[in-house]
Amino acid sequence: MSKLCAICNTEIGMMTNKVQINGMWVCESHLKQAGFKNANDALKNIDRFSFDELQRALLSNVNLKEAIEGDKSSRMDEIKAQFEAAQVSDLFGTKKEVKALPDILQSNEVVKYATSGVIAGGTVLMVLTDSRILFVDKGLVYGFKSTEIPLNMVNSVSYSTGMLLGKISITNGAITTSVDDVSKSSAPIMVDRIKTEMAKVHQQSHGADKDLVSQLRELKSLVDEGILTEEEFSAKKKQMLNLK
Ligand SMILES: [Zn+2]
Repeated sequence: MSKLCAICNTEIGMMTNKVQINGMWVCESHLKQAGFKNANDALKNIDRFSFDELQRALLSNVNLKEAIEGDKSSRMDEIKAQFEAAQVSDLFGTKKEVKALPDILQSNEVVKYATSGVIAGGTVLMVLTDSRILFVDKGLVYGFKSTEIPLNMVNSVSYSTGMLLGKISITNGAITTSVDDVSKSSAPIMVDRIKTEMAKVHQQSHGADKDLVSQLRELKSLVDEGILTEEEFSAKKKQMLNLK
């Protein structure tokens, strides 16, 4: 089956990388027209634009590649400002990981603290946001990887300090993650802020539970008033509890 460019309908050559955006094939010359170096360059950025955006960029002669990079650098500025506000002090050996954050963090996610550390012998950037704890490792050998623990999954967090460095332990379920070689000043701040953010997340979900209870009460009163039947109420109740 030949693949046709959704914009110009020409067949996409055998020799180039095939690029499909939201199910649409796009030829290399149109990708170049949008500012990408080649098909491969477009593939690298494929998560960051939609077919509609590409089409609009082509119609209005906008360099889509530059627009994407502009977005990324303004998100980086935002993240840097959050690092400053959080008074992050130790990013030893993790500058590369910091640069990867615009691709990793959600657009509305806020950094609450960050520090360098070591997990299983490898240097990582540990980032606390308003929703999760992230461990970012951009080791040259293994390529890029990141793992996360959502704050609502954290059971406990603690630190200990030795002569020179500290260690942070995070338990979620049966798993304990140990972050070694954290600077002595950063370890207690990180643990303290994790606890603060955990409390906020807990409060939010508690609030949602309360909402649910009061909604159920209201529905029950509709049954008492004869507006809803008992069956309708229990069907609705099941649905609401399952949704949670
Ligand atoms: Zn085309």
